[in-house]
Amino acid sequence: MTERPLTPEAGEAIAAIATPVGVGALAIVRMSGRGVLEIADRVFRKKGGTAFSFKEAEGFSAHFGTLSDSRGMVDEVIALVFRAPSSFTMEDMVEFTCHGGPVVVRHLLQALLDSGCRLAEPGEFTRRAFLSGRIDLLQAEAIGEMIHARTESAFRTAVTQMQGNLSRHLQEMRAGLLQSCALLELELDFSEDDVEFQSRDALRLEVGRLQGEILRLVESYREGHLLTEGVATVIAGRPNAGKSTLLNALLGHERAIVSHMPGTTRDYIEECFIHEKTMFRLTDTAGLRESDEAVEHEGIKRSYRKISEADLMLYMIDSSSGDFLKEAAAARELRQRHPESGMIVVANKTDLASDAGGRIAQLQSETACPVIAMAASKGDGLNELKSTMAGMVEGLDKLHEASVLVTSLRHYEALRNAADSLDNALQLISAREPAELIAFELRSALDYVGEITGKVVSEELLNTIFDQFCIGK
Ligand code: GDP
Repeated sequence: MTERPLTPEAGEAIAAIATPVGVGALAIVRMSGRGVLEIADRVFRKKGGTAFSFKEAEGFSAHFGTLSDSRGMVDEVIALVFRAPSSFTMEDMVEFTCHGGPVVVRHLLQALLDSGCRLAEPGEFTRRAFLSGRIDLLQAEAIGEMIHARTESAFRTAVTQMQGNLSRHLQEMRAGLLQSCALLELELDFSEDDVEFQSRDALRLEVGRLQGEILRLVESYREGHLLTEGVATVIAGRPNAGKSTLLNALLGHERAIVSHMPGTTRDYIEECFIHEKTMFRLTDTAGLRESDEAVEHEGIKRSYRKISEADLMLYMIDSSSGDFLKEAAAARELRQRHPESGMIVVANKTDLASDAGGRIAQLQSETACPVIAMAASKGDGLNELKSTMAGMVEGLDKLHEASVLVTSLRHYEALRNAADSLDNALQLISAREPAELIAFELRSALDYVGEITGKVVSEELLNTIFDQFCIGK
């Protein structure tokens, strides 16, 4: 772990296509780093024959001209110039807007590579924006989340994070921790004099207050992650209950293989669908039943793991079957085993059941869960099920309005660790242990919080984060 340098040198010149591959009206190829102005001069001629050099061009100026490689003109382009430090990466940058054909774009990129750029790695522009201090790690991640957001609320949350609300909050906490830590470390210099620069009572109050704030953030993850990852929803139940049919109906297309043979969903299938503003991540599990077959057994083991991670369970029961009440007991038991996840009982095959109404009432009283009557193969009851699912996570679409919210597992884990370190510190303070032990725990909490914004980072962590970006971002 190292504190990152405040003003790194501009990196070597990199180039990449910044727009999606394919045919479009326009496309953008961008460059950043040392010497990009000279490289641009080599490939670009301004229209009108006037003498022009990018080295003299002002930042935020646009220039119309032709771009050529060794074989001649590639395209007419607009060149947009950004001068360091007023650019995304804080380095000199030039962006060329050209016609959006895949071959044009490839030729343009090749011309830049032939003139001295190297191809950028995934997320390298954003990585440079982070390393130069233009944005912190949280904001860099927020850019990635914004690009990949599939719902309005995930998008709004990412925008808030990009604006730096959570970053500021964490910085304030870090400043508080740093202050207490500095005072404790000062005591070490006066160890023979037995002084306390901050009384232990005052220290306990301050550390307790900071821990409380961290725990509030930790708590916000419980719902926050649903915004970005979707509500993990598991369809469980016995083989042949109609789980794959339901999955297809919810997704609106044939994804799972529906079959008459019990136990054909060997593994789990995961796909997302959006209902109104909420994203659900759906998993169809292998049928829950004892099995001798090795493959199926493995599937069942994974099913149970998926169920234990679920935010919402849809327990499917064949309501036309003779032992539907036995299934109700199984649903109730599963619910008791995972009290933290919500459960909806789906009473399927009502088209085959005699006295469907009576059976549903029985299921309701046996399971104490919402029960939806359904005929999955006909799509009956589907809308009611979707509304009930949305109702179970009501308020989620308003969650982004909270000013600070933790939505990423990485941030959640760092905060949990920070809270644990502060817990240790509080115990040491109560036991009147020496200042250096307390200071050690406060330092480790500081490092954990610093990991989130990137104040303290390892190369490995940066690679993990930026590898998820596309080339050109
Ligand atoms: P899974 O093993 O739980 O995934 O069950 P499937 O989705 O493969 O369904 C098993 C069988 O039940 C298939 O033949 C489906 O067509 C049929 N099925 C599913 N839902 C219904 C329903 O609501 N009514 C009727 N009559 N048949 C259904």
